[in-house]
Amino acid sequence: MLQLKSTFENRDSLIAYVKELAPWAEGERSYIQGGRQKAEMKLSNIDPILYARTRNFGNGNITRLSPYIHHGTLSLNEVRNHALAKCNEPVQITKFLQELAWRDFWQRVLAEHPEWAWNDVESYKTGFTAQDYAEDLPEDILEGKTGIACVDAFIQELIHTGYLHNHARMYLASYIVHFRRIKWQVGAHWFLHHLLDGNLASNNFSWQWIASTFSHKPYIFNLENVDKYFGKLIDTSPLNNQPLYASYETLQERLFPNLGRAS
Ligand SMILES: Cc1cc2nc3c(=O)[nH]c(=O)nc-3n(C[C@H](O)[C@H](O)[C@H](O)COP(=O)(O)OP(=O)(O)OC[C@H]3O[C@@H](n4cnc5c(N)ncnc54)[C@H](O)[C@@H]3O)c2cc1C
Repeated sequence: MLQLKSTFENRDSLIAYVKELAPWAEGERSYIQGGRQKAEMKLSNIDPILYARTRNFGNGNITRLSPYIHHGTLSLNEVRNHALAKCNEPVQITKFLQELAWRDFWQRVLAEHPEWAWNDVESYKTGFTAQDYAEDLPEDILEGKTGIACVDAFIQELIHTGYLHNHARMYLASYIVHFRRIKWQVGAHWFLHHLLDGNLASNNFSWQWIASTFSHKPYIFNLENVDKYFGKLIDTSPLNNQPLYASYETLQERLFPNLGRAS
C-alpha cells in the first residue's frame, strides 16, 4: 500500500505534493488551512455566547469549524466541551449546542436511513411534483453569472473558498430549488463538489429541508432579508437583485402559483 507523506516544510510543498497525487484536481487554494494546529487555534477563538445573537449575520460570530469537524480533525464532543468551558451556565450557549446537535442528528438519520440521502423523504409541499423540477444546473449558476448580484457573490465564494455561511447556503439552495425550479439533488451534488466541509448527511438533509421534501413547507427568502444579514458585505441593491426585490406574499404567489394565496 502507498504510504502517504504526512509532514511538510510548508503549505506550498503540501499543495505541490497533493497536485502530484491528484493532477486532475482543479481550482485554486482556499484561504482555509487544514491541520490540527489550525483547528485548535480556531477552536480556542470561538465565542459560543455571542454566537446566538450574531450567527445569522454574514459577519456574525460563527466558528468556521465545519471543515475540521467533517474531516475528523476535531470531534463534536471536543467542540462541545470546549464551548461549555467558556460559559458559566450551559443555558448561555443553548443555541450553539443546538447547532452541534443538528449535525449529530443528521448523521444519525443517515445511518438509520441511508436510502434517504438522494431520495425525496416526502413529496414537495410547493404545489409541484418532483417531475416539475429540472435535472441540470444551468451554466449561469455554475459560473456565478445569474445577474442577481447577491446570488452571484455567494456562488463565487462557494467556488473560490469551499466555504459558505449557513444563511448563504440557505439562500442559494432556495434560489436553485424554488426560484429556478431545479431538483434539490442537483444542487446538493454541486455543493458537495465544492464545500470543504461537504458532508452527505448535513448537506443533503439541509437541501431537503429547504426543498420541503423533509420539512412542512418550502424555505424562501427575499432581498430585504439578505440586506438585513449581508447588506454590509455584498451588493444588495434592488437594481442589481430585481427578482428578489419583492414581499414574501408576492414571492409565494409567483413561486408557488398552484398553492393559492398565502394566508
Ligand atoms: C443547503 C445547506 C447545505 C449544508 N451543507 C453542509 C455540509 O455539507 N456540511 C456541514 O458540515 N454542514 C452543512 N450545512 C450546515 C451548516 O450550514 C454548516 O454546518 C455551517 O454553516 C458551517 O459553518 P460553521 O462551522 O461556521 O458553523 P457554526 O454556525 O459556527 O456552527 C458550529 C458547528 O455546528 C454545526 N452546525 C451549525 N449549523 C448547522 C446546521 N444548520 N446543520 C447541521 N450542523 C450545523 C456544524 O458542525 C458547525 O461547524 C448545510 C446547510 C445548508 C442550509
